[in-house]
Amino acid sequence: MVDVVIIGAGPAGTAAAFDLLSRGFSVQLLDKYAFPKKKACAGGITPKALALFRYDISSLIRQECRSIKICPQPGRAFVIQNKNPLCHMVQRWELDLFSLNMVQRKGAQFQVVKKIVSIEEKKLHIEIRTSDQLIKSCYLIGADGANSIVRRLTHPFCRVNRSLALEADIRVDHSERHSMEFDFSMPGRGYFWIFPKGNHLNIGIYSTTGHPALKQRQLVEYAQKRFGTDRLQAVKGYPIGVGGYAHCPGSGRVLLSGDAAGFGENLLGEGIYFALKSGQAAARAIVSACTPGAFPDNSGFPDNVASSVIDSSPYAAPFPGAAYDREIKKIRTDLRLYHLSAKCLYSFPSFSLKLLSLPFFHKKFAQGYADGKTLGQMLLCR
Ligand SMILES: Cc1cc2nc3c(=O)[nH]c(=O)nc-3n(C[C@H](O)[C@H](O)[C@H](O)COP(=O)(O)OP(=O)(O)OC[C@H]3O[C@@H](n4cnc5c(N)ncnc54)[C@H](O)[C@@H]3O)c2cc1C
Repeated sequence: MVDVVIIGAGPAGTAAAFDLLSRGFSVQLLDKYAFPKKKACAGGITPKALALFRYDISSLIRQECRSIKICPQPGRAFVIQNKNPLCHMVQRWELDLFSLNMVQRKGAQFQVVKKIVSIEEKKLHIEIRTSDQLIKSCYLIGADGANSIVRRLTHPFCRVNRSLALEADIRVDHSERHSMEFDFSMPGRGYFWIFPKGNHLNIGIYSTTGHPALKQRQLVEYAQKRFGTDRLQAVKGYPIGVGGYAHCPGSGRVLLSGDAAGFGENLLGEGIYFALKSGQAAARAIVSACTPGAFPDNSGFPDNVASSVIDSSPYAAPFPGAAYDREIKKIRTDLRLYHLSAKCLYSFPSFSLKLLSLPFFHKKFAQGYADGKTLGQMLLCR
């Protein structure tokens, strides 16, 4: 029996795996797909997200952006800039493959599973039934994204909202662009983005509501208007799990992290930071639940939870839910603030963007962003 099974090998899953492996836990990672694989994501890594990686990902960075052009409506753009990078651009498939290689090198077993059929929490362990096998573990982390099957099977009352994002690439010989662009001229609650990535531009549409087919048409029309082309490459869309700040994403020995827990923010749709942060929090919660004193007979539990110890113990592995709740308290506060800000921005876009266009506000914002702060840290001066 493995110590921890993690379903989903995206940023949340690999972040949790890395920290658990560092503490001597055995980890089995399951994913629906073999890697490398396509994942809809613009690959914008903010400084706060970059700081969370336990390994160096600088070789994956295609471009660093030190300025952001904001277009409230055509002809009224303003630029936010900083001497330090505001965002690092990667190709998402490269990041996922790199992270998976890192955790495999550290000892994770990786397996492609067609279908998760059932998850049952027994008295002493968890049973995960896939289409062709039964896997037993002490703990389970659901890191399987916005449409999480783990959430649906184990947390049926945890409602996660979904924003929608669609992206595509446009080839360019030489990108003269060094600025990211957020264009709020889109009708409805959302924006278009343009991210420079060296030999191509990544363009996309983020929407807090909307139908994928409709959004795809809007994206093609936008490309036509801005670049005179409708030849978009690699068009992909996927929901982003948001609104999870209202729930407790842990019950028994099953913890949800990243988009599966609704930990994307719904202001701009950033999810990688929260996926890494909550994946690491889930790992910490499991480690701290297994510290000495956690067992009923006070015999203690070694720092390194080897399967053999758990197998031979007459007791079940302790519950990490309370520790996880403590670990994610700040994440939830941050996500609430993003939620409130999204309400302001998309309900009163002209007013909110006018405010942001004032140098006093956007210089503060750019500095906080470049320093790797969350909205909560910027607004509450944490
Ligand atoms: C178009 C688009 C652009 C985006 N751009 C950005 C950006 O620039 N910056 C940013 O920070 N965020 C961005 N996001 C959000 C970001 O991609 C997500 O928030 C982030 O990937 C969440 O990470 P995760 O590990 O929780 O889930 P995911 O990255 O979704 O990973 C989930 C993993 O679980 C696997 N899985 C799913 N279902 C199953 C199953 N049933 N069984 C087994 N495995 C399964 C998947 O194959 C995947 O590997 C964007 C999202 C979209 C859709």
